[in-house]
Amino acid sequence: MPTNLFPVVQIRKGFWEIDEFEISSCFLIEGPEKALLIDTGQGVGDLRSCVEMLTDKPVTVVLTHNHADHIGNVYQWDEVWIHPNDRPGLTRKDVERAKNSAAKIAKRQKGCFDGVYKMFKLEPYDLNEVLPSPEKEIVIHDLEDGMRFDLGGGRIITCYECFGHSKGEVVFLDEQERILIAGDSLNYNLGVSAVPVETTLRFLKRLQSMSDRYDCIYNNHHDMRPLGAPLDDDCLPTAIAILEDAMKGIIIPVQEPNFWGQDLPMSQEDIEANKHPKMGDGRPSNRTTLRRGRNFVGIDVNNIFEEK
Ligand SMILES: [Zn+2]
Repeated sequence: MPTNLFPVVQIRKGFWEIDEFEISSCFLIEGPEKALLIDTGQGVGDLRSCVEMLTDKPVTVVLTHNHADHIGNVYQWDEVWIHPNDRPGLTRKDVERAKNSAAKIAKRQKGCFDGVYKMFKLEPYDLNEVLPSPEKEIVIHDLEDGMRFDLGGGRIITCYECFGHSKGEVVFLDEQERILIAGDSLNYNLGVSAVPVETTLRFLKRLQSMSDRYDCIYNNHHDMRPLGAPLDDDCLPTAIAILEDAMKGIIIPVQEPNFWGQDLPMSQEDIEANKHPKMGDGRPSNRTTLRRGRNFVGIDVNNIFEEK
């Protein structure tokens, strides 16, 4: 049986970060009447059972975006909310690729691979236990900018569009606890090649303009931050500064920290062609990586400006 013993950190009363074994982070917010689960990980382990150990309230499942490491266990529920831009292909067809991706992200996050989990046979990294997608139709609802999820007792979580990492990426604001859940729209190793740089910049600046409404930002991987701790305050302004540079034509490609925690060699031709080295699974990439401090941002240099 897949494990339900996910490492869990309670950040506030009724607010948990669930660590999918170093792969992906899911957040569970519980109000007096309802609970909201933000993302469902890659699909390693029995997430629903873990969630039901934490809350007995009815759970609404929302997805920050449609990438394999955020939607994996969605089929454990009957209904889900996702932005319509990201709705196409909301299925986990390729289990082999899911396993491959799970292993790579866990290593990137310097997880306990072969460590204590394995020693105690908790088996979170037995990737053969990635849950297969059941042949099941789920009801899909559309997320919209400004949509509010009322968990009772004044605990309202608001969804905001923040396109960049994907065409339909969204973030969630818990105004009562003053926490922003950013999905993959912000982190220290950020890929934003899904839309023009100008679009990403506009959305990240909007997040910054809302900063009087939150004290901290959590992204849905805990790479480059400890589990249960928010991103440092430099992350958002530095990502914005990198994108502002790109808009001005200041584009100096660098190697990004790769999944294996060491630099990928970047050939001179790659640098000259502004090409990112191939992802480990052989997928071609249109991504050029830029750096400032410890922020890495991957952009598509052929997609800087919005069409007028
Ligand atoms: Zn993603």
